[in-house]
Amino acid sequence: MCQHIPIDKIAVLAMNEEEGITTVPVPGRRCPSCLERGDTVWVIPGKCCPQCGTPVN
Ligand SMILES: [Zn+2]
Repeated sequence: MCQHIPIDKIAVLAMNEEEGITTVPVPGRRCPSCLERGDTVWVIPGKCCPQCGTPVN
């Protein structure tokens, strides 16, 4: 197999991949207490959970 991929096609693929990363940012960590209750609450590391107040590091 000797596929010839033009340069600008590679650039588009790379851009799409980067876009996927930026549109799905990691919001932080899931609160373990809320997770036990079945809730997924994202907390910024070092802050307290907005739902139950549990500090998340
Ligand atoms: Zn919580």
